Amino acid sequence: MEITKVNERIFLSSPHMSDEGYEMEYVKEAFDTNWIAPLGENVNGFERELSEKVGSKAAAALTSGTAAIHLALRAAGVGEGDIVFCPTLTFSATANPIIYQNAVPVFIDSNYETWNMCPEALEEALQKYPEVKAVIVVHLYGLSADMDRIVDLCKKHNVVLIEDAAESLGTYYKGKHTGTFGDYGIFSFNGNKIITTSGGGMLVSDNEERIAKAKFWATQSRDQARHYQHSELGFNYRMSNVVAGIGRGQLKVLDQRVEKKNYIYEFYKRELGELEGVQFMPSNEWDAPNYWLSSMTLTGKVRPIDIFEALEAENIESRPVWKPMHMQPFFEKYEFVGTDVSEKLFENGVCLPSDTKMTDADLAKIVEIIKGLW
Ligand SMILES: *Cc1c(COP(=O)(O)O)cnc(C)c1O
Repeated sequence: MEITKVNERIFLSSPHMSDEGYEMEYVKEAFDTNWIAPLGENVNGFERELSEKVGSKAAAALTSGTAAIHLALRAAGVGEGDIVFCPTLTFSATANPIIYQNAVPVFIDSNYETWNMCPEALEEALQKYPEVKAVIVVHLYGLSADMDRIVDLCKKHNVVLIEDAAESLGTYYKGKHTGTFGDYGIFSFNGNKIITTSGGGMLVSDNEERIAKAKFWATQSRDQARHYQHSELGFNYRMSNVVAGIGRGQLKVLDQRVEKKNYIYEFYKRELGELEGVQFMPSNEWDAPNYWLSSMTLTGKVRPIDIFEALEAENIESRPVWKPMHMQPFFEKYEFVGTDVSEKLFENGVCLPSDTKMTDADLAKIVEIIKGLW
């Protein structure tokens, strides 16, 4: 089949199906057997294969990463009025489910060493709010947070730890996969993530009983009975058997995607790392990142807006780093613990195009445009 490129735009990160057509094989199987729903072999297979990949005992395939965070909070027993710590520097999907549960977020600053939750700020927040019910930690752009210190603090204070690993599938901290340090971990297969099912998410945990409970909630909390019987609030959050087939195929090329993202990062760092005022995202010896989005900060005369505009003029996408939650109109009324680190990262940060379909010529063109600004 001849495929015409509709749009030559270079994206930050867009869907990239396997050359081998793995995804279609699983999807076709679902079609051929008319088993596109309910649940089914692809859903079971995707849960099993992802659990094996990351090293968790159990997994629940869901409609989105946001749904997975929501069910993690429920599984953690978070309810009305409970305090939940959340990094301020993240996508709103980390924080929204706290509100779904009528709980109260307290936003925690980042540090420059990891761009993720600052352990000192977390410790300060734990002193200030000893009644906190859960901590959500994020591994932004595929960089891992300082997990030894964060896990220790949560254990010491007896707080449930939830890892939002939506951006860090394929990232390892000291050889252990991110998303498996906390009581619960979540992954996302949204269209812009390192692998995608067009949309979807996964909740993982070593607590098989809690994962079974999450699956129950995700299918409208139907009690064991011939008739429809409900003794708890339910949700319609389960992944379909078609979507899970895409996920099984994508999982087969995850390592390839991580390799390409690493290549992209190294390319940029080599070409742009020495420019005046450029500082690349941090690297720590404990970290084996997936480099989902290659990012940097600018503190010299060239500003992020100069890069956004220069690239946009050539139909190339780039973006600022996440705008902190405590600066968002919807969330600014909630408490914030920290200094100005995440504000500075937002002010100075640039996420570079990190699409795995880019060629060396694309990368060369991008660095040429950027270098031209200096
Ligand atoms: C993408 C993302 C999510 C949400 O995942 P969805 O599958 O889009 O609901 C949550 N947290 C972070 C940090 C993300 O980047």
